[in-house]
Amino acid sequence: MTIVEGTIHKAYIMKLVGDEGVRIVENIPEDEITDEHLAELTGISLNTVRRTLYLLYEHRLAIYRRKRDPDSGWLTYLWQLCPENFDKALESEAKRLLRNLEERLTYEKNNIFYACTEGCARFIFDEASEANFICPFCQGSLEYMENAKVVETIEKQKKELIHSL
Ligand SMILES: [Zn+2]
Repeated sequence: MTIVEGTIHKAYIMKLVGDEGVRIVENIPEDEITDEHLAELTGISLNTVRRTLYLLYEHRLAIYRRKRDPDSGWLTYLWQLCPENFDKALESEAKRLLRNLEERLTYEKNNIFYACTEGCARFIFDEASEANFICPFCQGSLEYMENAKVVETIEKQKKELIHSL
């Protein structure tokens, strides 16, 4: 299933519908499928399958049509994904993530950090200075902390994200 390929795709769907939701999405074929059949295929409870499908529907990522069984008179719901809307949703999610990374990068680059030697927390210079370089949580000392590794990690994430767009 192309829809859940790639880490951002998966992360986005995971955030929206959770672990089981991803498995449900992965099992929706290109044409229609009933909620019952989907529950059988995945071994996930019908309730969860329905909840996931309606969540996708609310986000315009899935559509359904009702069909009445001519013999039993029962209504069946036939579900289908909307791949084109997935692309749009993923694109705006990726852009949002990119903005976050850029903000964090600016924050890391424009600040000097101090951290508790006991590992409680990290503070920017002004906060550390106001606390007289004493950790407000454990009274341990706050010491200068290099953040080149953090910057490097964020830059790598940013590169990967841009690459995936
Ligand atoms: Zn501490």
